[in-house]
Amino acid sequence: MNCALCNGTHFSLISQKDCKSGKELNIYLCDDCGLIQQLPLPSPEELRHYYATEYRLDYKKTYHPKPKHIHRSAGLALSRAKFLRANGITSGSLLDIGAGSGEFVTICSRSGLKAEGAEPNVGYSEFARSEYGANIRTQELANLEGRYDTITMFHVMEHLPSPQQVFEKLYDLLNPGGRLLIEVPWGLSPSISPSNRYFKAHLYYFDAETLAACASSHFDVIAKVQEGNLMILFEKKNHLSGIRLPSPDYAKNAKIRALRCGWWSYLTIGKGFRVPFRKLRKIYTENRMKRLSGSSILDRLMKEAA
Ligand SMILES: [Zn+2]
Repeated sequence: MNCALCNGTHFSLISQKDCKSGKELNIYLCDDCGLIQQLPLPSPEELRHYYATEYRLDYKKTYHPKPKHIHRSAGLALSRAKFLRANGITSGSLLDIGAGSGEFVTICSRSGLKAEGAEPNVGYSEFARSEYGANIRTQELANLEGRYDTITMFHVMEHLPSPQQVFEKLYDLLNPGGRLLIEVPWGLSPSISPSNRYFKAHLYYFDAETLAACASSHFDVIAKVQEGNLMILFEKKNHLSGIRLPSPDYAKNAKIRALRCGWWSYLTIGKGFRVPFRKLRKIYTENRMKRLSGSSILDRLMKEAA
């Protein structure tokens, strides 16, 4: 077994359990670079089969988004669009990879970007087109072509077997000076519950240092936000460079932090004690949305945000 980032062969076992199914799942931290990864990786066939059949059902229990999913997704989309605006991205072409039910692409189109999306799931991409008239193709990352000023990818990178190859592909899809916004679950976040941290579908658990290292030969980091999730805004490099790995000290420190991510740190540093109250509020808000269509939920949230 080799590390996907540094090719190292020394690992520390971090977890042995899939938080969704309770089945065995081995998660390791590379002692040389600190990348947390599932080992061995599932084969390409296993992955293809999993996404074609189980994935959406595993996660959302449905192939078509329900109002509560749209409400969540629209709320996230609004804050991501705000982050783009705050970083000066207000015009030009944008491609959202893994566009899901299309709320983000719709919001970006309405705020002046020439936005389109690609989503491999048939049910979700059809919904995006029929509900919002969004420009979203049913398509896999590997088949994407064209050139864009900005690419966004929310919660996709952690599912893909070779992050460095993905960054190469994204580099080719961007115009010179293009921007790339990547969001993944933050692998070392204290605010993720230990009962909700490691999954079969997630092959990697990134920290800012390891995600930046995976991108380092093709992209520079411009801005980052690290809370429950990790969001990094990258800029395409003018000239390719060698890969810049995290230091061995980083790896040592990451191991200590990963092993500390238990209930105590979740409830104290991660403020996990607040979660039941937040959940109650969410149930109340989502109940109010139950009979609304996707478009009216999105319109309502956009109006509130404006
Ligand atoms: Zn490594």
